Amino acid sequence: MARILLKNITKRWGDFVAVDRQSLDIKDREFLVLLGPSGCGKTTTMRMIAGLEEPTAGEVWIGDRMVNDDLPKDRDVAMVFQNYGLYPHMSVFNNIAYPLKIRKSVPRSRIPELVNEAAERVELVPFLHRRPRELSGGQRQRVALARAIVREPQAFLMDEPLSNLDAKLRVTMRAELKHLSHELQITTVYVTHDQIEAMTLADRIGVMNEGKIRQLGTPDEIYNDPANIFVADFIGSPSMNLISGRVEGHQFVTVDRHELTRTAMGAMSQAVLGVRAEDIHVVAAGSGDVDGQVYAAENTGENVVLTLQLGGQRITCKEDRYIRFSIGETVGLKFDSNKNYLFDPSTGDRVRSPGN
Ligand code: ATP
Repeated sequence: MARILLKNITKRWGDFVAVDRQSLDIKDREFLVLLGPSGCGKTTTMRMIAGLEEPTAGEVWIGDRMVNDDLPKDRDVAMVFQNYGLYPHMSVFNNIAYPLKIRKSVPRSRIPELVNEAAERVELVPFLHRRPRELSGGQRQRVALARAIVREPQAFLMDEPLSNLDAKLRVTMRAELKHLSHELQITTVYVTHDQIEAMTLADRIGVMNEGKIRQLGTPDEIYNDPANIFVADFIGSPSMNLISGRVEGHQFVTVDRHELTRTAMGAMSQAVLGVRAEDIHVVAAGSGDVDGQVYAAENTGENVVLTLQLGGQRITCKEDRYIRFSIGETVGLKFDSNKNYLFDPSTGDRVRSPGN
């Protein structure tokens, strides 16, 4: 088990900077998720930890060792990939046993017992004699997990391990991973672009964009206390409403002069108001903070996602699934003055009032 420390690591290919002077302190036993859009540098960061990519600058520490010059096989980390990386001609048993056999880290006589233990953890015991092609996608991913577990590494590095599975299986496997990580208590770095995976699995999430972590925090902090527009926009479904306007005397006014809600800030000549869909409530026309017209109403089964036209901007809110709306209908919107965020459009950063 180990702490993983990245000190100012950079990865450049020619002029292109994939990871930009990133530092990160991953605690012993922590489950840290790197989350971000395609191409933001998540996999490159993980590959530098694994030793599959050499940093252009900076240091990678695993435990109390600086491992920049260590080969991947000497770093004592186990990787789990999206494409499983199983040997097709070997049985499940031999796939799981493989790292023990090549490393010769345990006596051969102990291998069956260790393979069985790992297979038991991921419920694969009945399938140990099969070949990978005779398994479902979820079972194959469990073989890859068992192969990582059997090594008892200092850390797991997981790169989109669930993304080849269908939607239903992903949810099941997500819960299994959550349970497993709770049982094993091994430092884990997990890369995904799926915000639900990040929110549900992580102790902390590092939200990345363009080679840098834009916010590092617990899922709660990332969702409820976003540090900038990028994070606010990336996390949440539907995305947070980001409405352009200004603040006049603690009142947020949109660019086309709709007064929406009270804010903690006094005056801002340009501001972006962030409000989550679930924090806006639809009321009868004329009885809220502002009126808008229904542009679209989408019933997801769980709730109704309403898109409302408000001057030149559109606002999304979530309503009870039993309420029906017609396109073009005028409704009132009620904002909660305690549940909104202000951002500076020139920097994208959150603007906080003193003490907030
Ligand atoms: P995804 O979710 O699509 O896997 P990612 O966030 O994991 O994305 P990386 O794989 O880390 O992204 O890649 C970051 C950037 O570095 C991308 O723009 C990619 O094209 C670039 N890149 C990756 N490997 C190389 C390479 N060997 N040579 C040049 N550029 C590369």
